[in-house]
Amino acid sequence: MAYNKQIFKKASDIVAQRRRDALAQCEIRRNDCVLRFPEIAELEKDMASSALAVTKALDMADGAKEYVESLKNKNLSSQRKIAEILESNGYGADYLKPRFFCKKCEDKGVVDGVICDCLKDCMRAVALNEISDKIPVKEYTFDNFSLSYYPGEKDAAMSFAPRDKMQGVLNYCKNYAADFGKHSESLIFSGETGLGKTHLSLAIAGEVTKKGFNVIYGSAQNLLNMLEDEKFGRSRLDYSVEESLLGCDLLIIDDLGSEFSTQFTLSAVYNVINSRLLERKPVIISTNYSIDEMESKYSPRITSRIFGNYRHLLFFGKDIRQLKSQY
Ligand SMILES: [Zn+2]
Repeated sequence: MAYNKQIFKKASDIVAQRRRDALAQCEIRRNDCVLRFPEIAELEKDMASSALAVTKALDMADGAKEYVESLKNKNLSSQRKIAEILESNGYGADYLKPRFFCKKCEDKGVVDGVICDCLKDCMRAVALNEISDKIPVKEYTFDNFSLSYYPGEKDAAMSFAPRDKMQGVLNYCKNYAADFGKHSESLIFSGETGLGKTHLSLAIAGEVTKKGFNVIYGSAQNLLNMLEDEKFGRSRLDYSVEESLLGCDLLIIDDLGSEFSTQFTLSAVYNVINSRLLERKPVIISTNYSIDEMESKYSPRITSRIFGNYRHLLFFGKDIRQLKSQY
């Protein structure tokens, strides 16, 4: 996948910040240790002066090799002594070494002149973030999903209390996020507007992103607009939206059915659903439509693929957004 300069810069900045953070954390640990164990500062001083001596030794005519060898041994012994002090006081021997996010490039983003995988991952994440709707995912968590808005009494039309059903849905979603993997099952959330479908799909997105998976979240309308712009050469993006939608670890399509329907959108929806199904890549769809309504909007082949292969979670209750606005 090709990325534009802006994405490269954003990702490089993230990686550089990781390195600064790792070094700053290391410095804090070192300062703390030196206060507690002043011998460490002495040993470090010895190591610094022997490094200086090595540079000088390079100018020596005779015996330079032996001298450098002896300095090297001295240095190793100082390192060992520091490790011993740390270990005997309950720290790891590498307590004073920086803990880089990526050990391969030490958060420089480049190894032997080649872009490191961590920087590539970061560029992918930045690109996916640009495709996703700009929603403050952090505001929608499992913790602030309140069941108290759902009626705890049995509804006349139903033989159960919506709150009980929603407790089950919430538990299912929490487990889904906790166990998420690249081949997790696909889900369809259906139910009327304002019952928390978006909230739970964003809570899943937040958890799954934290675990390092690539997630794209968007309303059906926005995602389809982007695909259409790309198809007709109007895209401002330097990378393929289609490739991103098909390739991300989790695709969340919000409000399927609300988009303006054209021949293009119908075939694009089919392509995304079908391709990801063949690759066993998970999708979460939320919709206000019933199965019948879906069938009349889309072809039976789309509907049967969704309802035949996705786990169907039904959302019950009164309009939560309406209830919330009354308080
Ligand atoms: Zn790296």
